[in-house]
Order: sequence, then C-alpha cells, then structure tokens
Amino acid sequence: MRIALFGDIHANLEALEAVLADATNQGCSEWVCLGDIVGYNANPAECLEQVKSMACPVVKGNHDEDASGDHSLETMNPTAATALEWTREQLTGDQQEWLRSLRMVRQVHSFTAVHSTLDQPQAWNYVTNKFDAMSNFSYQFTDVCFHGHTHVPRVFVRGSRVREVAADLVELEEGLKYFINIGSVGQPRDGDPRACYVIYDVAGGMISYRRVEYDRATTQRKIMDAGLPAILAERLTDGR
Ligand code: ZN
Repeated sequence: MRIALFGDIHANLEALEAVLADATNQGCSEWVCLGDIVGYNANPAECLEQVKSMACPVVKGNHDEDASGDHSLETMNPTAATALEWTREQLTGDQQEWLRSLRMVRQVHSFTAVHSTLDQPQAWNYVTNKFDAMSNFSYQFTDVCFHGHTHVPRVFVRGSRVREVAADLVELEEGLKYFINIGSVGQPRDGDPRACYVIYDVAGGMISYRRVEYDRATTQRKIMDAGLPAILAERLTDGR
C-alpha cells in the first residue's frame, strides 16, 4: 500500500492537481491531507472542494481555522491577514463549516497526522530544529507521525537521542520514532519552488519525498487578478 501525504496547499490549485496526478502515477491508492488547504493563493474554494471530494483523512491547519472563524486577524502578519480576509469572502457557509469540523489530530493505520505538533496542536508551534521536535516526541505514541506547517521538508528521528536526518529517502528502522515534515504543496519555503509531498510505502517501510513541477505562471496570474498582495505571487518563483 502506497499512501500519499500532502498539505499546506494554500489554495494553489495548479500545484494540487499536479501533485494528485503524480501520486496517482506513482501508484498511491490512499490519501491523507495535513491541513492548510486555504490561505495565501487564489483558489481556496476549488482546493477545498477537491480535497473534500476525496473523502480522505484531513487534519486542520491554522489557516483553515482562521478562514472559517470570525475572530480578528490583527496579530497576524499583514500579508497573511489580507489573504485570509479575502479567503473568508470566497468560501460559502457550508465550506467554512466543513473546515471548522476538521480534527486537529488523526490516527491513520499505524501512524499519526497533525498540522503542527502533538504536544499542543492548537498552539500552532513551529518545529525548526531537534529541540523543538523533542516536546512532540513525548506525545507521539506511534512510530511515525507526519506534520507540516513550516513548509520545509524535515525528518526528525528519536532513538537514544533526537537527531535530524536528510529529508530524502527514509528507510524506517524498528525501535525508532519518526516525526516527518512533508513540505508544502502550494507554497514551498526551502528554496525549491516545485510542489512537495511524501509517499509512505507501508509494506516496504519506506518514506520518499516527491517534487513536482506545476503551471506556476497561471497560479501567479490568478493571485494578481484577485488583487492579493504581489509578494504572494513573487515568492512562488523562489520557493521562499
Ligand atoms: Zn501553511
């Protein structure tokens, strides 16, 4: 069984469609979405309907929460807040209700899925190094947990100590725990502008990253046409 794990789509429909096509070609038969379906880019409703139609496990991201609430976005960075105000206007009541209904943590087969961290999923903490990862591991009761949120692929492993290994091909070893950031479909921030997702080969005990080209020019044109901040289009070129 090959499972595709994808998240931080951020309303980038071209990237989402490219990832789903690639995962199908790669023989994936199951799907898990790690949240932040909306926010930043110009197709929130379309991306939401696509993920919803797949009827797969989905966990809630902070942008999903912010786009489906009516709380003030004042404390947020201005670019993200502008995009979220716009996103709220694009979504129907039913679509916002669907986002509100998403759970923070899901167990799927023998692994766990969360958008940020297991120790305090609702605090939306960012894991950028092994010290941040340590607090997550205290609450991780499965061998493998997938997360997103920073938009940077990273692999943390806990044996006798916690270490970070290359976000590349991971061969799972018995007795170790893995906390794996799957990168971002719609707004990568590791300097590689291609859409990123992960395939978990359950029988083979292997996790691999995939990078997929997509029609970035169309995504960028839609962002500009929608009147969203230009920086949101520009950053897609650099993957930052
Ligand atoms: Zn995100």
